[in-house]
Amino acid sequence: MISAQNEEIRDVIIVGSGPAGYTAAIYTARANLNPLVIAGSVTAGGELMNTTDVENFPGFPEGIMGPDLMDNMQKQAERFGAEILFDDVTEMNLEGEIKTLSLADGTVYRARSIIVSTGSAYRELGLEDEKRLSGHGVSWCATCDGFFFREQTIAVIGGGDSAMEEALFLTKFAAKVIVVHRRNELRASKIMADRALAHEKIEFIWDSEVIGINGADKVDGLVVKNRNSGEETTVNVTGIFVAIGNDPRVDLVKDQLELTAEGTIAVDGRTSKTSLPGVFAAGDVIDSTYRQAITAAGSGCAAAQDVEHYLANVSETLATA
Ligand SMILES: Cc1cc2nc3c(=O)[nH]c(=O)nc-3n(C[C@H](O)[C@H](O)[C@H](O)COP(=O)(O)OP(=O)(O)OC[C@H]3O[C@@H](n4cnc5c(N)ncnc54)[C@H](O)[C@@H]3O)c2cc1C
Repeated sequence: MISAQNEEIRDVIIVGSGPAGYTAAIYTARANLNPLVIAGSVTAGGELMNTTDVENFPGFPEGIMGPDLMDNMQKQAERFGAEILFDDVTEMNLEGEIKTLSLADGTVYRARSIIVSTGSAYRELGLEDEKRLSGHGVSWCATCDGFFFREQTIAVIGGGDSAMEEALFLTKFAAKVIVVHRRNELRASKIMADRALAHEKIEFIWDSEVIGINGADKVDGLVVKNRNSGEETTVNVTGIFVAIGNDPRVDLVKDQLELTAEGTIAVDGRTSKTSLPGVFAAGDVIDSTYRQAITAAGSGCAAAQDVEHYLANVSETLATA
């Protein structure tokens, strides 16, 4: 592809249009930094585009649909002058004072600072009906959706610490939580495993894989296959929480920025400062713990303020040089 260099050097380019990216755009636009947001092509708006009701984002007492919330954030960023391009970044060069970003359409953009807010991806089971029933009984987030399953029987898929955390949290709402695990023992830490094993509302189906999800409009069952006997069983559940891991989207930056042991972009304390000057990161791509829309938005706000201070310091240094 022939690349075209955009001559302008922007103050800030934001990569990602989830709650972190759009919040960073609102703040940097209101600070007159004229941000350019590279929103992604098919995934613009981020993870909340894949869900229905969001009931825990403050300011919406009746709740709001995920796509509507993201549409509002986009409009709010545009209202203050943020420019948004619906394309994917394919390459970033983050060294030096001026950073360059290449887009899938071949255009190259340059900026003094970058905010990386590319989010993270929950691992999927890879089943045909998983996407179709996402938000209709299939979930990746107990904190977000547990409330919808009061007095129901639900399944948690996985055997690690996060699966046990999800299962224990869900016991607050569900009548019964069935943990389906591929092995005959848990990978979770002893303390988490002991807590889950001892819980009266949690049952286990061992040595089993999920091979199917049933339900026309919403989940009404789960088909599991025993890995030793090959026997297939239908389990009656109305909700399925997939807790088999999460991958921060760091492919574009992993050779240039320091990462944490969890694979997120490493930042300096509570700031958004990465290991390279002028490069900031926000949202789920730096967060292996909270991963909520509101924490991502807060993190985008912090990144925008860090960018403002960085750019002010750079121009002050140039003025006194
Ligand atoms: C099904 C589901 C339901 C959820 N429900 C809730 C809920 O009810 N309440 C709640 O608080 N949280 C919920 N969450 C969690 C919440 O969605 C995330 O914590 C939040 O979206 C993270 O925001 P983010 O901006 O960091 O990343 P994301 O929202 O993941 O956004 C990442 C952005 O990066 C862009 N991107 C990635 N790679 C590139 C690239 N190469 N070039 C350009 N752009 C790129 C994508 O297009 C996207 O815009 C839910 C998550 C899921 C999966």
